[in-house]
Amino acid sequence: MIGKTRRVPPISRRLFLAGSAAVVVTACSGDDEASPPSTTEPVPAPPTSAAPATTAGEATTTTDAPTTTTTTTPPGPALERDPFTLGVASGDPAPGTVVLWTRLAPEPLTGGRMPADDVEVRWEVAASETFDDVEASGTAVATAAHAHSVHAVAMVGPGERWYRFHAGGWTSPVGRTSAAPGPGVPVERVRVASASCQHYEDGWYVAHRDLAAQRPDLVVFLGDYIYEGGAGEVGVDGNVRTHGTPEVRTLEEYRDRYARYKSDPDLQAAHAACPWFVTWDDHEVENNYAGTVPQDPADAPGFADRRAAAYHAWWEHQPVALPPPDGSGTYRIHRAGTWGDLLTLAMLDGRQYRSDQTCGDVGLDLDPACPETFDPARTMLGDEQEAWLLDLLSTGTATWHAIGQQTVFGDTTLGPAVLNHDQWDGYPVQRGRIVERIAAAQAAGHALDLVVLTGDIHFAGAGMLRHGPRGTGTPIGVELVATSISSGGRIDPAVQEVVKAIPDILDVELEHRGYILHTVTPERWSAEYRMAETVKEPDGAMYVHATYEIDAGTRTVRFAGT
Ligand code: FE
Ligand code: CA
Repeated sequence: MIGKTRRVPPISRRLFLAGSAAVVVTACSGDDEASPPSTTEPVPAPPTSAAPATTAGEATTTTDAPTTTTTTTPPGPALERDPFTLGVASGDPAPGTVVLWTRLAPEPLTGGRMPADDVEVRWEVAASETFDDVEASGTAVATAAHAHSVHAVAMVGPGERWYRFHAGGWTSPVGRTSAAPGPGVPVERVRVASASCQHYEDGWYVAHRDLAAQRPDLVVFLGDYIYEGGAGEVGVDGNVRTHGTPEVRTLEEYRDRYARYKSDPDLQAAHAACPWFVTWDDHEVENNYAGTVPQDPADAPGFADRRAAAYHAWWEHQPVALPPPDGSGTYRIHRAGTWGDLLTLAMLDGRQYRSDQTCGDVGLDLDPACPETFDPARTMLGDEQEAWLLDLLSTGTATWHAIGQQTVFGDTTLGPAVLNHDQWDGYPVQRGRIVERIAAAQAAGHALDLVVLTGDIHFAGAGMLRHGPRGTGTPIGVELVATSISSGGRIDPAVQEVVKAIPDILDVELEHRGYILHTVTPERWSAEYRMAETVKEPDGAMYVHATYEIDAGTRTVRFAGT
C-alpha cells in the first residue's frame, strides 16, 4: 500500500535483495509444477472433510435421501464450554459442493484452549433455517494439528441452503450458503460483494454488518484479512480498539490474531451470510513482503518459516477448498471459480511469487522510476500463475470474466514516476504481457468481458483498462477498486485529485471505508460503491457513493448515479 514507512537499505543491500528475489521466484515456479495444474478441475478436498466413502458409520453428503432424524446428538466427548466462538463460514462454492468451515476454540484469544485430542464434528445442510429437512450431513475431524479447524466439503443441491455444526454437546450458529450453478447453466443474476483490508484497530466493521444485511450470493475477499502489527493504543492514531498483542510471527501468534478478528460479530455475520472466495495480500504475513523477501531486511533470518506459519494459519481460518499447506513453505492458492454461464472468477496470489519491489519501495514516489523496474525478469505472479491466468482468460466461455486480485492493475504512473512500486505499475513488463494477450484474444473474436476486482490501496476507484495509450487505446476491460472495510486511508488527500486527473480513471475516493456490491446479469455489470459515513463509531450509517455500470460487450465503464 501507499504511505508505509520502509527502511531503505543501502544500494549494495538492495541489489543483493533483488538478486535473491529472482532466485527465489525461479525456485517457486519450479515447485509449482507439482501443484494442482488445472483451471477447470475441482481443487482437491482437504483431508478433514467428510466424504461418503470414507466416513465410517455416517450417512454423509447425500443429496437425495434426507436423514430421518435431525442429527443433534454430537459425536465425541462433551466439551465444558461453547467451542463455536469464531462463528461459521462457507466458501469456494463449486458445482454441487461448498466448503463449510468452523474452528473449535472455547477461549479464542489464547490458543483456543481445546483438549489436546482430535474432535469429531457433525455438520448438517438443510433447505430451511429450521433444519426440518436435513439434506446432507457428515462428520469431520477437527484436529489439534490444525487448531481444531474444520473444512468439510458438503454436496448440496442448487439454491439457498443453511448449515450448522455440532460438537461436544454444543451447536454452532447457522450459516447461509449455496453451491455454484454448474458450467453452462443459464444464470439470470448474481450479486457479489468485493472487499478487502479490515484492520481491526482502525475501525468497526460497519461495512460487514451492511454486507451481511444485503445477503449477496458471494463475497470476494481480496486480502489484508488480518494485520500482523503490534497492538496500538485505543484513542491514539484513530484506533477504536486494540489487537492486544505484539506483532505476530509464530503459528500460535497468527492463530490468535485470526481469532481476534473472527471474534467480531459483524465479521461473523458477513461470513454466515453467504459463501466467500478468499485470497490473501501482504498483511496476512507482513506488510509489502515479496516472495520470501520481508519488508524489513532485519527480518530476513527466519522469514521463510514465518511465512510458512502465516500461510498455515491462513488455511486453518479460511473456508477454502484447498488442502492444508504441505510443509514445503510454498502454498498454491490461486484458483478459479465459476457461476453457471454468467461468471468465471480467477483468484490471484500477487505476493507469494513476486519479485521484490524496486527503487527501495519508498511509498509515494515522484522521482523517475529506477531502471530495474523495467527488468523483464521481474514478476508479480510468477511464470506458472501468469500462464494459468492467460489460459483461463483466453479459453473461458462465461459472459463475464472477473479477476480477484490485490494491487491496482491500471496505469497510474505520472510521467516517468511510478507513484507506488508495490502496485502493477512497479511490474510493468509482466502487466504488458498480460494486456497484450487479452487484447489479442479479444481482437481474434473471443468475447472476453473482463472486470478486475482490486483491493489493497484503501481507496475506492473505477477505471478503464486499455491496450495502447491511456485515454485512446482499445478498451480491454474495467478495473473496480474496493476501498477498505476499515483500514485507514493513509494517502494525502491532495493525491486524490492528481490521480483522478489521470486518463481512464473515473473515480477516486479516499475518505470513506466500505465495499462494492456488484449485480451481474448477462446484459450488465453494475457496481454499487457502498460506504460507511464513519467506522469510528460502531453504529455508523451506510450510503451509496456511486454506481458504475458496464454493458456486456463494451469493455467500457460509465458513471450511473448514486
Ligand atoms: Fe490493507
Ligand atoms: Ca495490502
